[in-house]
This record gives sequence, structure tokens and C-alpha cells, in this order.
Amino acid sequence: ILQNPSKRKLLHSTFASRSASTLVLAEHEGGSIKAQSLSAVVAANSISRDNPVSLLLAGSGSSLQQAAEKAATCHPCISQVLVADSDKFAYPLAEPWGKLIQLVQLKGGYSHVIATSSSFGKNILPRAAALLDVSPVTDVVEINGPNQFIRPIYAGNALCTVRYTGASPCMLSVRSTSFPVPPLGDSKSDGASISEVDLSTLDEESIGKSRFIKLSSEETDRPDLGSARVVVTGGRALKSAENFKMIEKLAEKLGAAVGATRAAVDAGFVPNELQVGQTGKIVAPELYMAFGVSGAIQHLAGMKDSKVIVAVNKDADAPIFQVADYGLVGDLFEAIPDLLEKLPEK
Ligand code: FAD
Repeated sequence: ILQNPSKRKLLHSTFASRSASTLVLAEHEGGSIKAQSLSAVVAANSISRDNPVSLLLAGSGSSLQQAAEKAATCHPCISQVLVADSDKFAYPLAEPWGKLIQLVQLKGGYSHVIATSSSFGKNILPRAAALLDVSPVTDVVEINGPNQFIRPIYAGNALCTVRYTGASPCMLSVRSTSFPVPPLGDSKSDGASISEVDLSTLDEESIGKSRFIKLSSEETDRPDLGSARVVVTGGRALKSAENFKMIEKLAEKLGAAVGATRAAVDAGFVPNELQVGQTGKIVAPELYMAFGVSGAIQHLAGMKDSKVIVAVNKDADAPIFQVADYGLVGDLFEAIPDLLEKLPEK
């Protein structure tokens, strides 16, 4: 239908006359919905009050079913959980997911499709949007009604208001840090319905073009950098991987995630998954502590929305002090040992 312009017009005008209904693309792990996907639900709920939300989960096995049951009660705005149970979705590859979203969208006629701006959403949403022949609005930080969104531009130095006037569905990726999830219990619901997606019409040939090879990830007890409440970041001034361990020790005592500037990553002090900034992770924790970080614009783009920013830098003119709530002009090699001594052992 989407290939035929005249029919497409008809399809789109039908959607336009309907009230909002949203499809949230969710990730799950270990039988639970990932916290980042819950942010997409919070974002969906802010589109309009009477906006029924369907949550799409895909994968295979018992953990998928467990995740679906938990998803059904996790937020009162969720009216339906759609489950696509197939080995094809065992890994979040864009090709099968794109086809799945197209299939679900053509059946459900949602006005909005939302995912979080995680690597999952960034990978899958553009492919699905291309299949549906719409242009997605990415990295949304504020929703002001069904068609009006705010997103950062110029590495976060300006905010742009976007009015979506394209065809249905309006596809959005949202920054999870901008749509915090209320504490569990505040928003629990009685339970949404759970239905299986009929995959019999899925085009098998076109989804078999990519193949999962392996996942390389490091086991860590630390909180995830993208969703941690406290982040302790070190910059080039740490001078070596050995010295960077002070940052790790401090993070351990505070129950915080470790972050780094690109200069620290490029110098080999820490792996690049710890990089915060324009080309790293975007974080907005309750507390962000920056040690020996100059505050280059590309770094600020990834952390300036943090609630409280504390900076230690020996240069009083360092740009990081322009965004810091608390600043200490001093040597980090004195400040960190002092802090480590004063903080209780964990
Ligand atoms: P520096 O700029 O070298 O700053 C070190 C700071 O430590 C200085 O302010 C100095 O006064 C202070 N200092 C030195 N010694 C001490 C001490 N003993 N005690 C206390 N303070 C001390 N950067 C990112 O971080 N993230 C990104 O995602 C990113 N993306 C980029 C994308 C592009 C396209 C480009 C061009 C650049 C990007 N950068 C990014 C790099 C960015 O421009 C900066 O070069 C980088 O952030 C600087 O890192 P830094 O603050 O650790 O180092």
C-alpha cells in the first residue's frame, strides 16, 4: 500500500483524523523492561492524556513472556502489550525489527511511534521510518502536544522547536534523561492486555539479510552510565590510567558511574564506552562531578542537563565553571584524596 501514492494519501488522511495512539518500542532484559524504555512510555503519556499506549516487545523464550507480564502493569497509560515471539528477534537487529514495526503499524495505524535514543532506538527507528516512508524526529527532549517537539541542535547549544507536519505515524526518538520515570508504585496499573503479533505475513526473505555474530560487553557492578543518579568524571588532567583509578575509587564510594572526557579516552586511561559528550553518552544525573575537565563544548553537550554539577579544576577560567553549581579551583590530586579520606567506606 505504501508504494502506491494514491492509496497512501488515503491511508494518511484516515490516520490524521484519529486521536493519538502510540506504539512504544521497548527493550527487555532478564524478564524486565529496560528502564530506558520506560522513559519512552513516560514520553508517550505526555503526548496527550487520552493517548492509549501499546508497547511492542520482541524476542523469544520465557524471559519475553515475563517481561510482557511486567510491562502490562508498569504504567497506567499502557493499554496493550504486543508480543512478537520469534528467534528472528532474539537480538535487536534493525532489519527484522524494521519489518516488524512496519507490520504492526500497518495493522494498528498508530499516530505516533516512540523509542528511546539508545543504541537500540538509533539503530531501529530510521530503518522502520524509511519502510513507512516518514521522517523521524530524533533526540526529543520535550513534547508540547501531538505535533510539537523540542530537540537540541548544534551539539546542544540551541533548542529547536519542531512542528511535525508529515504523514502518519509521527516517529520519535526521545532522550531518556528528559523523561524521568516516576518511582515504581506511583504509577502502577491494574494490567494491560497482552496479545501475540501475527507474524505469518512477515517477509522472511528480507529480514534474513543481517545476522547476529556476537555481543562484547564487560561485566561491572557499577551503575549504568546512561541512567546513574551520580556520575564521577575524569579528564586528561588525570594523566594516566593508574591515576584514573582515583576516580573509580571515588565512584565506588558514592555508588556512582564513571565517566570520562574524550581526551581521557583517547589517551587510553579508560575504554571509550565511558565517554560523555557529543560523541559519547548523554547523561543527566542528580549529581555530576567533574575532575580535571576543561568543559569543552562537546563535553558539555553530554552533561550540562545534570541537576547539580560539581567541578574541580586548577584553572579558575575553565569553561566548566560556567555550568557548575559548585566549583573548586584547586588541584584534583589533593581534592580527590581528601574526599576519599572523608567519605565513609562502602
Ligand atoms: P583538556 O581540555 O586538556 O582539559 C584538562 C583540564 O584539566 C584543564 O581545564 C586544566 O586546567 C585542568 N587540570 C589540569 N591539571 C589539573 C589538576 N592537577 N587539577 C585540576 N585540574 C587540572 N570531548 C568529550 O569529552 N566528549 C565528546 O563526546 C567529545 N566529542 C567531540 C567531537 C568532536 C567532533 C570534537 C572535535 C571534539 C570532541 N571532544 C569531545 C573533545 C573536546 O573538544 C575536548 O578536547 C575534550 O573534551 C577535552 O577533554 P579534557 O577536558 O579532559 O582535557
